[in-house]
Amino acid sequence: MGKPITVRAPGKVNLYLAVGPTRADGFHDLATVFQAVSLYDDITATPNDGGITLSMSGLGEHLPVDDTNLAVRAAAALAREAGVDLTETGVDLHIHKRIPVAGGMAGGSADAAGTLIACDALWGTKLPNDRLLALAADLGSDVPFCLLGGTAVGYGRGENLTPLLARGTYTYLVATMLEGLSTPAVFKEFDSGQSGPVPPPEVAPTFLRALAQGDTQLVAYFGRNDLMSPALELHRGARHVMEFFCQHSLTVMISGSGPTLIAQVESVERGEGLAERLRNWPHVADAFVVTGPVTGVEFVPDRYAP
Ligand code: ATP
Repeated sequence: MGKPITVRAPGKVNLYLAVGPTRADGFHDLATVFQAVSLYDDITATPNDGGITLSMSGLGEHLPVDDTNLAVRAAAALAREAGVDLTETGVDLHIHKRIPVAGGMAGGSADAAGTLIACDALWGTKLPNDRLLALAADLGSDVPFCLLGGTAVGYGRGENLTPLLARGTYTYLVATMLEGLSTPAVFKEFDSGQSGPVPPPEVAPTFLRALAQGDTQLVAYFGRNDLMSPALELHRGARHVMEFFCQHSLTVMISGSGPTLIAQVESVERGEGLAERLRNWPHVADAFVVTGPVTGVEFVPDRYAP
């Protein structure tokens, strides 16, 4: 039997998120710009002689480890697609979670993306990239982006991706909340706030130009997230924590459907100073600094033994 394989999968922030009309399948049309950031879940896949098991540590300790977990669903989907007989060969998965749960940073999607890559290597399935990406999109809207990483624009549910040329490095102060938010609940709140037809979503050319030029201040200035008001409407704690960002003249946004709050800071040092103070605020689970863009799922070198 082969040796364990460990990969790390990044979380993401949304620098731009325009929400369009609801589609026939119940999802909303989106135009969003993702950026992968230096906050990772580690996924270790160990071969076994049949079936899929999962254990979790870190922030994932209380999550279900049955087939409702996206990582288990990803391993099962890959086995089905590649014709792996799970009665003869299987995988024990372990995830060390650092990406907040239900925080709008694509934690579950990162685990699914990492599991696909780790199991693909473990089972030697060598699925072509287009099939892997299709499998990822079936698992969840954000899974393809977690595979790719970098900075990308996503249309459709967010799964139709085009990588973007984004110059420069971005440094973010991140505040995660003790209470998460359910993504469907935030979209429902968005819908209830609409009084007329919602126009098709698009990413403003001024924003894309600022990204291409590496003008981080203009990226913050032109940034937009249509889910921010509905998310804050549902999360009193995040509204309260926003005050901290405003007091320090930071341009604050939520990531995805929130409630995680993010803001660009001009240096890691300033960000860390602010993070230390934020950790004492009510409603805050943790505060830290991340940078982006980073690459998508990658093998952890000293723990990858093909
Ligand atoms: P997104 O940013 O993609 O909208 P999110 O970061 O807000 O997602 P997740 O952390 O992915 O939210 O979790 C959403 C829900 O999915 C949770 O309530 C959790 O119970 C469930 N879930 C299933 N598998 C996982 C997993 N491996 N990690 C985290 N959550 C998972």
